[in-house]
Amino acid sequence: MRPSLMEKIEGLRGVNSVKIKEASEAGKKVVGMYCVFSPQEIALAADAISVTLCGTKQEPIAEAEKHLPRNLCPLIKSSYGFAITDTCPYFYFSDVLLAETTCDGKKKMYELMGKIKPMHVMNLPQTANDPDALENWKKEMVKFKSFLEEKFNLEITDEKLRNAIKLVNRERSALKRLHKLNAHKPAPLSGMDMMLAQWLKGFNVDKEAGIDLIEELIKETEDQMARGIYAYGEEAPRILLTGVPIGAGSEKVLKIIEEAGGSVVALENCTGYKGLDSFVDETKDPIEALAEKYLSTPCSCMSNNNGRLDLIKRLAEEYQVDGVVDLTWQACHTYNIESFTVRNFVKDELGLPFIQIETDYSDSDTGQLKVRIEAFLETIETAVEGAV
Ligand code: SF4
Ligand code: SF4
Repeated sequence: MRPSLMEKIEGLRGVNSVKIKEASEAGKKVVGMYCVFSPQEIALAADAISVTLCGTKQEPIAEAEKHLPRNLCPLIKSSYGFAITDTCPYFYFSDVLLAETTCDGKKKMYELMGKIKPMHVMNLPQTANDPDALENWKKEMVKFKSFLEEKFNLEITDEKLRNAIKLVNRERSALKRLHKLNAHKPAPLSGMDMMLAQWLKGFNVDKEAGIDLIEELIKETEDQMARGIYAYGEEAPRILLTGVPIGAGSEKVLKIIEEAGGSVVALENCTGYKGLDSFVDETKDPIEALAEKYLSTPCSCMSNNNGRLDLIKRLAEEYQVDGVVDLTWQACHTYNIESFTVRNFVKDELGLPFIQIETDYSDSDTGQLKVRIEAFLETIETAVEGAV
């Protein structure tokens, strides 16, 4: 049985789009951002609202393709399409945008998007083991802070930064505890509900209210667990979903897995657990602590990205996973290339079944994906039965 609070959580997007309008009209500044590398704490310390911008739906892609190549990641096309069609309320009310140099597609798209609204681009050092990377990334944090101070005509003090760090850490802690509920066998929440609860955090205009809601959801889910109520039976194959970010509108593969009887227990992607794994150190200099936390994000745009393998291993063990699905968006070179390494690691090191799914936001391949995913789940069931 689905927790009753999920209905309220599903309605959050609509509620938040009204709240952001009211807040903006009342003079509150809004900083729109896209990526898990974005230090939302600096925006909050500027007394602004930090929001994730729309980019998970197919609808605006046709318009985006008038400016961008068709053979481009759907996430980039959707984000740009929402911006040029002015159909994302969060984009509309953003006073400034925060972008980052992650993959080439996003970096070049931001050059076009930056003509629509004031934009600050953070230059992400992409070589994880380079001793200079942290120093350079710290400088990028300071530049973003200065950008907001100048734009909003205020000072971002260390005290404000520390308060923002504490607030976002509390949000991470609540979402991490929620995610960890699905380590239980059987899982109390469907992967679809977990995805929604995790993804919608980005649209929370009022962070305190958002944290309270997640705490309530944890409590309701724990109450259901105490009464023996779970989302799936014990026999459902337990799947770890890794790869590209997903949200409402781009949940096709997650939905197909669950409709075929799989239980997606862990979302390793950056709209799921990736950003929750570690916290910002509250005892350190705030800029240094922020730089350390965000630079450690195990995204495929980093080279190397061994942190992703480590995270997959830990989640696979903790969540008693039976198989791994690696979702990659078409034309996402970094995730597509990295899939070879992930496949070898999952099969050879973890001894688990693995499948890579490469797709886009459209429904054109749904039938074909169903066949492949059902066959994958059958392989897992056969392997589990054989092991009993
Ligand atoms: S996958 Fe990487 S680049 Fe893309 S949004 Fe997530 S953290 Fe950012
Ligand atoms: S999914 Fe890949 S191509 Fe798309 S924005 Fe993220 S890193 Fe870039």
